[in-house]
Amino acid sequence: MKDKHLTTLRMIYLFGNWKMYLDLEESVALVTELCNVKLPTHEYVTLGIFPNPLAFVSVRNVFKGSTFFLGAQNVGWTSKGAYTGSISAELYKNAGATYALVGHSERRYIFNETNEAVRKKVEACLDAGIIPVVCIGETQKDKDANKKEYRLKKQIMKVFEGLSLDRKEIIIAYEPVWAIWPGTPCNPEEARDTHELIHAEIAKYTDTKVPVIYGGSVNAENVEQYLSLNGVDGVLPGHASTKIDTFVPLIEHVIGLFRANP
Ligand code: PEP
Repeated sequence: MKDKHLTTLRMIYLFGNWKMYLDLEESVALVTELCNVKLPTHEYVTLGIFPNPLAFVSVRNVFKGSTFFLGAQNVGWTSKGAYTGSISAELYKNAGATYALVGHSERRYIFNETNEAVRKKVEACLDAGIIPVVCIGETQKDKDANKKEYRLKKQIMKVFEGLSLDRKEIIIAYEPVWAIWPGTPCNPEEARDTHELIHAEIAKYTDTKVPVIYGGSVNAENVEQYLSLNGVDGVLPGHASTKIDTFVPLIEHVIGLFRANP
């Protein structure tokens, strides 16, 4: 099911969330391999990697001069000072991060991160000059209780109500929690309808164009069906971005789509 020709897209994002799958050595080995493969590039495709905090600087050093941008998987909302165990958006910015994931479902549901904490982190990123990639998504329980729309609208409201963007960028990642690997991939019709709803909801709060990317078991085989949908401005693969054998074909496939439709 294709809603649009890929050439109608402008910038799309392909962000790899490495979660806590790889240790320091494995992270460095993977970026080294990525740098050794001659990966295609395209001016409309922004590539990003989100390594764990321990591996961040080493990954940055290997990636220097590459086409990949770097992001944090999480940030603290304070800046500098007596905040044991926290890494602020400002510290990440100084270390070379362009993006930061905020409110990933694993932070929300495993580490009890609230909408209020997510909002503080969004503001901390914007203040520090980091582009927040704010993850929203309903659980299976929300879905079963017919609360999907309610959950998404509330998460969006808590991010955008009264937020001053002032020409700053923000990205939303729609990740249905039930579709995160090894969950069941979301069917394209549902992804399209949900992205439509999310864009409409965001438009109630801001005139700024906010890209909405999709995440949930995305891989080289299914990525085209998501990127072909109206309102899907990129993808956020987790598991498939953590192995050279699955990440390289995914990147090649996405860039190939654009090259085939110049
Ligand atoms: C994620 O949780 O960011 C994600 C989309 O993971 P996966 O691709 O492994 O489902």
